[in-house]
Amino acid sequence: MPSQPENCLFCRLVTAGDHVRTADGFVAIRDINPIAETHLLVLPERHVDTFRDIDAFPDEEAGRMLRFVADTASAAGLDDYKVLVNVGEGGGQTVFHLHWHVLGGRFDSGKLARVLELETA
Ligand code: 5GP
Ligand code: ZN
Repeated sequence: MPSQPENCLFCRLVTAGDHVRTADGFVAIRDINPIAETHLLVLPERHVDTFRDIDAFPDEEAGRMLRFVADTASAAGLDDYKVLVNVGEGGGQTVFHLHWHVLGGRFDSGKLARVLELETA
């Protein structure tokens, strides 16, 4: 069941979290259970359940969100990295407030395999 803004964990972290950076209606935080050496989450301040609802953002705001993701990686010292969005329960989404994973450096291969739902023999 998707969260509503009043009980949404990431809405709370947007207002009260430990922000790595914040600008233009977006914040970046450290993931509580990192799967890579650097694992940041970019959250829009505006509550949108999932990437599927990207149309809730005007084009200009969607563009700024992408730039914020890139600037967050750059500010974290990353040149080469992954950007990941899990979409819907079947896509591995567990928190229903749109967020972008920024992943760089060494990966925890076991955790990454679980996130990507790969077979681990
Ligand atoms: P999803 O699976 O929805 O794509 O990603 C949710 C992410 O939020 C997970 O990587 C999880 O570790 C992270 N997370 C869950 N609860 C908290 C929290 O209270 N604080 C922070 N910083 N990250 C959280
Ligand atoms: Zn929210």
